[in-house]
Amino acid sequence: MKKLLSLLLTLAVLLSLAACGSGSDEGSLTIEEGKLIMSTNAEFPPYEMKADGEGVFNGFEGIDVEIALALADKLDLELVIDDMGFDSALLAVQEGRSDMVLAGLTYREDRDEVMDFSTSYATGVQVVIVKEGSAVNMDNLGEKMIGCQLGTTGYIYASDSVENGGYGEEHVLGYENGALAVQALLNGQIDAVIIDNGPAQAYVETNAGLSILEGDWVTEEYCLAVDQGNTLLLEKLNSALEELIADGSIQSIIDKYIKD
Ligand code: GLN
Repeated sequence: MKKLLSLLLTLAVLLSLAACGSGSDEGSLTIEEGKLIMSTNAEFPPYEMKADGEGVFNGFEGIDVEIALALADKLDLELVIDDMGFDSALLAVQEGRSDMVLAGLTYREDRDEVMDFSTSYATGVQVVIVKEGSAVNMDNLGEKMIGCQLGTTGYIYASDSVENGGYGEEHVLGYENGALAVQALLNGQIDAVIIDNGPAQAYVETNAGLSILEGDWVTEEYCLAVDQGNTLLLEKLNSALEELIADGSIQSIIDKYIKD
């Protein structure tokens, strides 16, 4: 009888340990069990933008939106998109309000100090949008007023000192999103907009009277990022992403939105 009792006790302890173990594993993968919360700024066509109607997911569409859906599917999680300013989307992941930021996000060493980056899934370049026929060019850009989206690499490079290849803060105005910067250019409040090529092409197509200056400014790698130290989630996202790259899914998503 005693033997049976101790056997039962051991079994009970083992069972509770096992339950505890699996519970904490699941709990640590994402903030809300079963969900994959993506923070983004849906003003960045063709990577993430609001759709007319339902779009591909809850009123959103774009390359990152479709990649997020494919990742969530591979990880057997339900996607949640949280749309906010670009700056806030980066902070959300660092403050535990989102599981990943997927927002045409460029890898940068200083960002890597506060977040953990995935494998790159696309490249982007910074370009300069001007008003068609304007006298603004690559050589006199430093004498002009440039608009950028706050917190973006375009803003960081343009507002850097002249010695570091920028134009100085006094030549740069920051906007909450790219669309507002383009609006300011159309209204004549600024002379140029420095922004990623993807949204630049989209803005030039949808607004008459704009053109993109010849020459790429800087080439960048787009990655998603998770909170620093969230290794388990990053590993799962990375292997899902690598599978989607290897089987051509990422390329076909990109080709759906960017036609050369
Ligand atoms: N690629 C740029 C960056 O990471 C802009 C991204 C964006 O505006 N969504 O800063």
